[in-house]
Parts: sequence; C-alpha cells; structure tokens
Amino acid sequence: MHADIVVLPGDGIGPEIVSATLPVLAAVAKRYGHSFSFAEHDIGGIAIDRHGEPLPAATLEAARKADAILLGAVGGPKWSDPNAKVRPEQGLLAIRKALGLFANLRPVRPHASALGASPIKSHLLEGVDIVVVRELTGGIYFGDKNRSDTEATDLCRYSVAEVERVVRSAGALARQRRGHLTSVDKANVLETSRLWRDVATRVMREEFPDVTVEHQLVDSMAMHLLSRPRAYDVIVTENMFGDILTDEASMLAGSLGLLASASLGAGKVGIYEPIHGSAPDIAGKGIANPYATILSAALLLRHSLGLVEEAEAVEAAVSAALDAKVFTTDLAAPGQGVDTAGAARAVIERLG
Ligand code: ATP
Ligand code: MG
Repeated sequence: MHADIVVLPGDGIGPEIVSATLPVLAAVAKRYGHSFSFAEHDIGGIAIDRHGEPLPAATLEAARKADAILLGAVGGPKWSDPNAKVRPEQGLLAIRKALGLFANLRPVRPHASALGASPIKSHLLEGVDIVVVRELTGGIYFGDKNRSDTEATDLCRYSVAEVERVVRSAGALARQRRGHLTSVDKANVLETSRLWRDVATRVMREEFPDVTVEHQLVDSMAMHLLSRPRAYDVIVTENMFGDILTDEASMLAGSLGLLASASLGAGKVGIYEPIHGSAPDIAGKGIANPYATILSAALLLRHSLGLVEEAEAVEAAVSAALDAKVFTTDLAAPGQGVDTAGAARAVIERLG
C-alpha cells in the first residue's frame, strides 16, 4: 500500500527520536512491499520560532490530508514563560481538536527485561497487557469555568454522543484483543458518570455482546490497577479520570521511554507519539530512548494503516532488542548503554 505520513518532530529530543524512527518505518515498507512518504512540518516551540504560532496553517493542512501523523514531543524551557501569549502545547491541543481526535490510547505492557524498573513487584507485573482509552474532548477540562473572590467552579459536561463514540472505539479494541472491557466512572456520586455508565452499558449490550463488560468506580480502579493489573484488558474512561489513571498505569511499565500512545477519532487518521515529553535535559546529546516512538509507529501501522502483521513485527523487534539488553542510558547500568541511533539499528536488525 501507499501511505502519506506527516512527521512532526517538534522540540527537544523530538527530532532525535523521530529521525531514529523513520528508518524503522522505511525498513517495514521495504520488507513488506509498501511505499510510505514522509513530509516534515513544524509544531510546538519550533513553529513559534519560525512562524509565530504553535500550529501553522501549513502543518494543519498537511495533517488533514495525511493517512497518519507521527509526532515527537513539544515544549521546553525556551517557551515556558508563564506570561507568554503562545505556548508549544497549544499546538498539540489545537491539532487534536481540529482533527476530531477524541480517544487517547495508551498500551501498557511491561517488558520482562525492564520489570525491575517499575516500583511495582515483578510477580504482579508478569503478563500485564492493558490498553487504557481516555476520552480526550469533553468533561471538566472543557466545561465553563468561573472564579470570584470567594469561590470557583468547573463545569463537568458529557453528551450521550461523546460517550457513545469513545465506548465504541474501546469496544472495538477489546473485541480485537482479549474481549474484556472495564468502564471506569464515579457513578455513585456524579451525574455525568451515571450517564457514562448508562450509555456504556447500552452501547456494549447492543453492539458488542461478545465483549464482557465490568464497571469500576475510579477510586477502586486506582487501587486495583496496582494490586491486580493482570485482571485488565481494555479500560475506558472519561477525560480527567483517564489523565490520572494513564499516568498511574505508566508506572507499571517502569520507564517513560517505553510507552507509546495513539490519539484517534472516527476516521483512520491519528496522531502517534511517545507519552514522554521533550526531555530538555538530554536534548541534543543523541542518547534519548527511541523505543516509545518506535512503538508509537507500530500503533500507527496498526490503527491508521491497518497493517497488523507489520505492527506486530515492529513490537516483536523492540521486545527482541530489549531481550538482548540493547538499552539506552535511561535503562542501562550507569556508564553503559547505546545511543539513540544504536537502539533504532538494533530494532531494524531484528525486524526479520
Ligand atoms: P512534559 O511536560 O512535556 O510531559 P515532563 O515534565 O513530563 O514533560 P519529560 O520531558 O517527559 O518530562 O522528561 C521527564 C524525565 O524523563 C527527564 O529526566 C527526561 O530526560 C526523561 N526522559 C523522557 N523521555 C525520555 C527518553 N525518550 N529517553 C530517555 N529519557 C527520557
Ligand atoms: Mg509529562
């Protein structure tokens, strides 16, 4: 197949991890007979510097026409003045919104050789394979906000349609995986959560009768995620609960440098990026861990291009590189480790 991939390196280590990842995609294309074109555009701080805005019109236009978007990271100390009128992160929020990306997927699958990096006991982590699906466009983050001298309010709002679409995405994902969905809410207290639970129950009964559904209150979910993480397959939840639970879930895997994400909407196009930030402390040194970005490229192959076998090959190659202890400095013993390009080469060599 042919695919047009828009590449948004962004700031800090973004350009380093993205340029380590493109040869992996090129190797996949060669091996499986596909043709991928890569078009680079600016987003974030670099876009502010070059164009005066974090999401230039040319970037958005290219993104709208693309089959998929691979992103590095945005932001850094240069643009972090709290009084600044424009900030790099606005570019990311704006592009997600413009493309209608409402579901953020974060797979959490601790790798055997990195288990020691997690603060959770290894015996609880073996076999953990979870995808958290966080709703991205609604809830308390986007409701009306008010502030007076004596009080403040944040309105939490969800429409039936917003809950339906994200539950549908999660249901479809659960069906492709182990057929189990956990929907997380706070239905004992919040009206939006009672709506969430009603809609999730109906959508799953009508459209995914083959997927088992469990409802969990967010407080007990926070506990169970650490005490019995193996019990979960796909977890779907609203925006703020998802924000908190995905950070918690990331600790199961240990290193930030191993966690990928996908932001998806109703169509095929999505934005794929590592969950970590621009790591200004190590930027420019060529030592950043590229695995999270390479694993994000695997999600791109699976979710936007429908290339499941290719996605699995990339994931297996990263696993094999980790098995062979090809570690960047964040995972390696002090004074050891390969550089960014070396880790990417190790993946390409193991692509089969
Ligand atoms: P943001 O606000 O953009 O999410 P953050 O404050 O969460 O950023 P990160 O940029 O994710 O911070 O970095 C947190 C720490 O993890 C830093 O010490 C950074 O060097 C390290 N880190 C992040 N990503 C990587 C990576 N790919 N390889 C190695 N170290 C990393
Ligand atoms: Mg962060």
